[in-house]
Amino acid sequence: RKDVGRITTGSKAFDELIGGGIETQAITEVFGEFGSGKSQLSHELAVTVQLPEDKGGLDAEAVFIDTENTFRPERIEQIANAFELDLEEVLNKIHIARAFNSSHQILMAEKVNELIQEGKNIRLVIVDSLTAHFRAEYVGREALATRQQKLNQHLHTLQNIANTYNAAVFVTNQVQARPDAFFGSPTKAIGGHVLGHAATYRIWLKKGLAGKRIARLVDSPHLPEGECVFKITTAGIVD
Ligand code: ATP
Repeated sequence: RKDVGRITTGSKAFDELIGGGIETQAITEVFGEFGSGKSQLSHELAVTVQLPEDKGGLDAEAVFIDTENTFRPERIEQIANAFELDLEEVLNKIHIARAFNSSHQILMAEKVNELIQEGKNIRLVIVDSLTAHFRAEYVGREALATRQQKLNQHLHTLQNIANTYNAAVFVTNQVQARPDAFFGSPTKAIGGHVLGHAATYRIWLKKGLAGKRIARLVDSPHLPEGECVFKITTAGIVD
């Protein structure tokens, strides 16, 4: 097993919660309601993976599989500025793949192998959103088994990339706010069985007071459950 690498979220508290940053050779899932910060974190990590190791990065590039047209170069610009990085260089190291439906999304994930074999130093694969296409296309009870099977296959591809290239995989999953699931297992409550098994780390993002966000680590192989508070600012994710 190669040495596990870590990518900073931009927030010290958040990094500490998850053991020092987003881990390579693992899938990290963030889930939460609309506006909880899933896409913001995706953008942040696409930049921070490029930082040198002593600044919390891996001196590497990212693939951003964008399924809902959420990728915003302007947002990358703000974050790149905050880290005093050159925008053009930063954008060149983010490989955007727009996925028009779930099969296309699966294909895009498989293509990451080719990009790396062409010589691109990719150490982070973001899928924002992991679940949206699957939910839209496989509707109703009878489609549930197929949906889970397809999603599992997709996650298997992503886990293989993570293992083979010592890369981090970061996926987002939009869920409804459910107060009754607060202390329970929210991903199970919203039909997240598949993710529950496949993701190594699951982080629940919630909106807090005064624009703050709360991250709750709900499932981890070797870290305690816990919470931290962070903020989304023009400069990106901060304590
Ligand atoms: P969605 O399902 O809407 O994509 P999400 O969890 O991905 O949900 P994000 O888009 O990551 O949500 O977060 C949106 C929030 O981030 C906004 O409500 C806003 O508060 C904050 N935000 C976005 N851009 C900036 C910015 N440039 N500066 C400060 N805050 C911002």
